[in-house]
Amino acid sequence: MIIAVGLVLATSILVGFWQIWKNDETNIAHEDERLNFVLQRVMKDLSTVVEDTARNVVMLAGTPPIQGILTARRNNSVAEIARIEEAIWKDRLAQIFLSLGESNRNLLQVRLIGLDGKEAIRVNRIGETVVRASPKELQDKSQHAYVQQTLGTARGKIKYFGIDYNREHGEIEEPRVFVMRVATMAFGKDDEPLGIIVINIDMSRVIAKMMGTVRAPKQFLLINEKGTYLTMPERNASAATIQARLQVFKSRYPDLAARLDKGWRGGDNETVRVRNQSFIARIGQMRFDWSDPSHYLLAVTMTPMKELLAQNQEMQRQVFLFTALLALIGANVAYMLTRHVVKPLQLLTDAARQLSRGATVDSLKVDGRDRPDEIGVLLRSVYEMASNLEEKQKSMRAILTTAQNPILMISRRGIIHNVNDATEQLFGYSREEMVGQNISMLMNEHDRKHHDSYLQRPSLLGPGKILDGGREVQAVCKDGSTVPIHLAVSKLHIKNELFFTGIMTDLTELKKVDKMKSEFVSTVSHELRTPLTSIKGALGLLRSTSGEALPDSGRKMLDIAYANCERLSVLINDILDMEKIEAGKLTYDFALFDLVAFLAEVIETNRAYAEQAGVSFVFQSLPDPIIIFADRCRLEQVVTNVLSNAVKYSPGGAQVEVSAYVEESKVRIAVRDHGEGIPEDFHDKIFGKFAQADSSDTRTRGGTGLGLAISREIIKAHSGQIEFESAAGEGTTFFITLDIAPEDQSFNRAQPPGFLAEQLEDTRHIA
Ligand code: ADP
Repeated sequence: MIIAVGLVLATSILVGFWQIWKNDETNIAHEDERLNFVLQRVMKDLSTVVEDTARNVVMLAGTPPIQGILTARRNNSVAEIARIEEAIWKDRLAQIFLSLGESNRNLLQVRLIGLDGKEAIRVNRIGETVVRASPKELQDKSQHAYVQQTLGTARGKIKYFGIDYNREHGEIEEPRVFVMRVATMAFGKDDEPLGIIVINIDMSRVIAKMMGTVRAPKQFLLINEKGTYLTMPERNASAATIQARLQVFKSRYPDLAARLDKGWRGGDNETVRVRNQSFIARIGQMRFDWSDPSHYLLAVTMTPMKELLAQNQEMQRQVFLFTALLALIGANVAYMLTRHVVKPLQLLTDAARQLSRGATVDSLKVDGRDRPDEIGVLLRSVYEMASNLEEKQKSMRAILTTAQNPILMISRRGIIHNVNDATEQLFGYSREEMVGQNISMLMNEHDRKHHDSYLQRPSLLGPGKILDGGREVQAVCKDGSTVPIHLAVSKLHIKNELFFTGIMTDLTELKKVDKMKSEFVSTVSHELRTPLTSIKGALGLLRSTSGEALPDSGRKMLDIAYANCERLSVLINDILDMEKIEAGKLTYDFALFDLVAFLAEVIETNRAYAEQAGVSFVFQSLPDPIIIFADRCRLEQVVTNVLSNAVKYSPGGAQVEVSAYVEESKVRIAVRDHGEGIPEDFHDKIFGKFAQADSSDTRTRGGTGLGLAISREIIKAHSGQIEFESAAGEGTTFFITLDIAPEDQSFNRAQPPGFLAEQLEDTRHIA
């Protein structure tokens, strides 16, 4: 909205200013045109007056009395008669002069001046009347330039003497009169000269009329060839006033004055433009006679720039006002238009904002849904979307709150963001008590210590959603009691932030059942072991003593019974071992011994079993002893299990290679077979309880599926590792890695060494 209004305002202002600026230039150009026009007209008026006067002079020079006077002088020998005749002709001529004067208001004087330079006839205008001067009033003008210059000129030659103030006896006549003098020689029929006809025209009225047509602020100047400013003075102005005015003009427009003082530089009939900071003017020259450069007029029309621009200022004010008005209207229209478009978008934004702040669709206060345009459609869609989302959210929340399992969500820093009802029930805290707190409030001392660093582990940032298969932890309730729970953690990203969801399972009941089951199994096993030992003993005795006496079928049955007893006792021993391990009751008897010799012994012990299966052992090791600190019996149990597995899963005639080699402070036992290998999908289950890749193996190959589970626990207790590598069809290699006993042997041999004890502690927690 702001941009639209701003644009309209900026455009109007720009156009306004441009207009104002342009206006100055156009105005000046227009003014120049007007000045030129006025000047041309004025010059034309002047020429008309000049031409009329010239015509009158020529007309007077050709009137019959001219010839009459000449003839009268020539023909009459009698002087008196001639004088009378001449006087009659002169009267006639004067009559013509008078009537010309009467018909022409500007005509000031018409004269006939004789060849001797003396006035012969003179007709003067005195106010409104025209009067003939008496013979006494006639003057001698022979010394005057115009008389001298006209006398002797050819017939038809018109002499112009410019325009100047009228002078009487050399003095400027007061009141001032501008006079134009035009003269020509008057000849008789046979080219006999009579004298000069001179007409004086009063130009004041003509010039005043011209000045009247030049309207302010334009000014009009007329300057004669002498540099006299004809339009400056007024009729009644004193000489001092004229001088003062002239000075003011010259000081105000020195450029123009200087230019005019220098005279005309332009061509004929053309006007010249003069322009500077203070005025704009057109100057033109009017010559009376193109062959005579000595008399001319300079006409000037000018406008002072100040006045022109003042006129413009009024114009500018109008443009400014108009622009402002236009800008205002434009801005208003822009505002209304954008509002019309923007308002619905604002509604939409409002709706979205309210929704994002958690408002329900019902509580939304946005009108415009019933609009028929696109905005209406958009609003309706937003409403629909929001209510769909709300429905989904509701059902999700319902699932979460009604879920049997406690579920909570924490941030990467361990802050609880959300919990469900089951979590409240499990821990005894209300939701408000938990949300915003650190998850460690629900943990025991040990977990608390590890938890924060666990959350900062970079591996948590990796791909995948489920972090691990879950683990067992102790949940600490509000009343301080602890509850064993299984915790499965998955991660999720909300707005680029990492969160964890923990789904918990209360293990209290499960543990109880598990314990009961274990106790039952151990009781049963214990109860079974004693009778089984006696049965096995009895069967063994029978086999060795009276076995020979029995028939073949009987002996076979005895062997089978014995073998089954054997298997059963292995199973029972394994179950009891596992039981002890789980109860933490398995004790170890650590001692220092040579692993190489030990391995050789164990291989020997199992060789017979291997040979039964057609499998041979190959043992490779350095000759030097490798001393380890371990429970010999338990380690034998582990190695035997690995060896027997290798044998069990080897084809007949195959080799099982056993080796022991040192890697830094550790020794690595490797048992390699060439059997069918362990299937890929079974790799992560192999160390589990009762885990068998093919459960039908139990029958064909024997085994309980407990061997490796027990082995792993025993090796863990030795702070070692048991691992394997296997590729289907290429056999399996089991590795057992153990610490080599330190040279100084300063540790306590009766107890697990310090580093072991620590790790045992940890292992238990991790488990
Ligand atoms: P079992 O008493 O059945 O041998 P274990 O825990 O020792 O129990 O072994 C678990 C399962 O691991 C076996 O049933 C077998 O499927 C697989 N397994 C162990 N060792 C090997 C091996 N060397 N080659 C192939 N499969 C093996």
